[in-house]
Amino acid sequence: MGKIRSLSPEVVGKIAAGEVVERPASVVKELLENSLDAGSRSIKVEVQGGGRKLIRVTDDGEGMTAEEARLALQRHTTSKIESVEDLFALHTFGFRGEALASLAAVSRMKISTRREEELAGVELQVEGGVVRHSSEAGVPRGTSIEVRDLFFNVPARLKFLKSPGTEMAHIGEILAKTALANPQARFQLFHEEKLLSTYPVRPDLSARMVEALGDDTAGKMFPFHGRQGELHVEGFAGEPDLNRSNSRGIYLFVNRRPVRDRLLTHAVMEGFRNLIPANRYPVAVLFVDIPPSEVDVNVHPSKWEVKFSDSETVHRSVIRAIRAMLEEIPWLKTSPRERPEGVKEHQGLYGALGREASLPVSWTGSLRARPRPESEDESPEGSPPVSFLGQIQDTYLIFVSPDGILLLDQHAAHERILLEKLGKDLSGGNLSRQGLLLPEVVELASAEAEIIQEHLGDLGRMGFELEPAGGRTFWLKSTPQILSPEDPLQLLREMIREISSWQKGADLEQFFDPLLKMMACRGAIQAGRAMGRQEAQALLSDLQKCRFPSHCPHGRPTLLRITPSDLEKMFGRK
Ligand code: ADP
Ligand code: MG
Repeated sequence: MGKIRSLSPEVVGKIAAGEVVERPASVVKELLENSLDAGSRSIKVEVQGGGRKLIRVTDDGEGMTAEEARLALQRHTTSKIESVEDLFALHTFGFRGEALASLAAVSRMKISTRREEELAGVELQVEGGVVRHSSEAGVPRGTSIEVRDLFFNVPARLKFLKSPGTEMAHIGEILAKTALANPQARFQLFHEEKLLSTYPVRPDLSARMVEALGDDTAGKMFPFHGRQGELHVEGFAGEPDLNRSNSRGIYLFVNRRPVRDRLLTHAVMEGFRNLIPANRYPVAVLFVDIPPSEVDVNVHPSKWEVKFSDSETVHRSVIRAIRAMLEEIPWLKTSPRERPEGVKEHQGLYGALGREASLPVSWTGSLRARPRPESEDESPEGSPPVSFLGQIQDTYLIFVSPDGILLLDQHAAHERILLEKLGKDLSGGNLSRQGLLLPEVVELASAEAEIIQEHLGDLGRMGFELEPAGGRTFWLKSTPQILSPEDPLQLLREMIREISSWQKGADLEQFFDPLLKMMACRGAIQAGRAMGRQEAQALLSDLQKCRFPSHCPHGRPTLLRITPSDLEKMFGRK
């Protein structure tokens, strides 16, 4: 006998099931998708033993006839597509026709279902994929699918399941994601007969967001949207201070389908570039709506991944929409209509101290050089004077006005100002340079010299004008203007080191950002330097002109605000 043999249908079924059903949460995901595809308005999820013992999803959707229910259990049977072309005109979550077959293969399943027009419903009992019992049953319209003893016949899989608590957390997350994208339906989750969460029917996404993410988080999030032809990008993103140590606060949906997608995650991160600390992640809910013909959802059986036909446009549109929103946040005064239902009026961006009170118009005027349209009649002169009071530890600047106290971190604030100035200069061509009276000779290690040779033009644009003087020696003829005259050589070396960490032949254009950040940090007023009134006022006024004044390029706040109502609270007057 040869070494190759056909696998039995049972083994094939279990292997295929492995791709769809990884853990109890995947069962919940598939059943929820089916219920939604069946037009359900109310869906109940009951779980026991973290999903290992029982998962039951009951809906009020269109239901199935006895024959449909039997068919649905087979592999590759679906009511949702007929041809491959249908995949690119898809308006359902399901299309592969294998979820029920997969679930049935690795559990003891019971299906009870009835269509509206049928007098009696049907009940099917299935074990390891085989129908054991079938009977008429008096059941309400809709479908209830019970998955018991998950993986009872795949002990290897059982070993990978985590504690009931952990599995419940995954189930809760799937439910939150599904509910988030489907405010038109009601969802309830029970564990051991206890109600864990409930999502009533809501008129729109923003109302749903409050219950899915919690009042605290939702209150710090702001709507964004953008449109590019038939591509529609919308969602909510948190203020920069609302960042997390992992990307789990980024919820991505494509045509309301929850996805895991590196391109979209990257776009969200790019939107927050230079506003949150390295290794931190923003909180955001992103809905990408795109014609089904422009996105391939058939990438993996679990349907978590998608491919866009024009990923670049999607990427760019997401960044642009989030960026545009962030530019407005500190001054944003959401009207009650725009504000997610249940979210209190926005409390300003400026640190924990300022969270309580809404941003008064006068501060709006004084913090932003370019007035927002609705406050146009408020002349800048009309806003109260902000006067400089002094410096703490030669590091923090204090300003006061009748509207409260403003604290600036002088280094962080100046870094932000310089970063934006450098970015503007660079996109206009070159950074301003300062010619050296006498060119300086720079001698470099041969690896460094090689990098300089390759990037002479790029370094020139950054303000370092270098001329080869034979071998590993160069004339340094100018330095970037923002740098103090004593440290350009040091910075040049650091830039070379940074550049050398990139791949050879890398396009510097993509990498200017870290260089600019480095220069901004170097060029900025350091902490511990005394500053006079004029300088301090100028710094504040330059900061007001920034696009993203609230945070330094490393994501630290540049300023904090203490309002009169904060003071009242601190002094126990309230
Ligand atoms: P798919 O969702 O990809 O079509 P499934 O195996 O998940 O494949 O389901 C097979 C078929 O069973 C579906 O196409 C649908 O017709 C039917 N079905 C499954 N669940 C339900 C439900 N809750 N209500 C009504 N019909 C359902
Ligand atoms: Mg399905």
